[in-house]
Amino acid sequence: MVSNLVNAVILLGAPGAGKGTQTSLLCNEYGFFRVSTGDIIRVEVKLGSFLGKTVAHFQDKGQLVPDDLVSELVFSRLRALESDSFVFDGFPRTLAQAIKLDEYLQASSLSSSVVLVDVPFESIRTRILGRLYCPGCQSIFSSLASAAYEGMPCPSCGVQLAVRPDDNIEVLKDRYDIYNREIGPILEYYGSRVRSVDGTQPSEMVYDSLVRLLELKSFQC
Ligand code: AMP
Repeated sequence: MVSNLVNAVILLGAPGAGKGTQTSLLCNEYGFFRVSTGDIIRVEVKLGSFLGKTVAHFQDKGQLVPDDLVSELVFSRLRALESDSFVFDGFPRTLAQAIKLDEYLQASSLSSSVVLVDVPFESIRTRILGRLYCPGCQSIFSSLASAAYEGMPCPSCGVQLAVRPDDNIEVLKDRYDIYNREIGPILEYYGSRVRSVDGTQPSEMVYDSLVRLLELKSFQC
């Protein structure tokens, strides 16, 4: 049983800020359920579902999938789950999504904590252009910052590691511009609910800061 004080951890931050890594760590240790919209969308695209075909070109170009589509993806997933503890990675990405998420959480009587993982663009650029991902389980391998690892089997599921199609400098610039445009209104909306961690630290230190900030308790079975 999860005994955390908070139901929903909402991680904000630029692409490549390390939200995915922190989400995995929180989910593994504290039993949260991962809600990563980038992963959900990539899986739909890979499956070739109707939705996947509708949204594929947004993701390829680094543009945002329309709010209604992405919100429906998230909320239908949440409704299907029995868990009431989530980490949101990559959602919300617009003010409209933030408002919809608050409405959902309030209607479900779920508490939330909002944390900004703060990393400047130069670090983002180095990280994103150096990372690989697993098309099977969606894991990110940022420490394998070498093309030499491309095509090696994923340590978790064995699928060959690859460069994410949207991890190139042109698409990254667009994704970062969109992030900069959207994050201001989101931060303004959340106001004093937002707390920050320094995302330039090594990931284990970022994680320690997060756990302290969220006042998490041990995950007990
Ligand atoms: P990520 O893996 O979080 O970097 O997301 C990859 C891509 O998925 C983004 O560039 C968008 O095209 C799409 N995406 C992910 N999350 C959202 C969201 N909350 N709203 C709209 N589009 C999203």
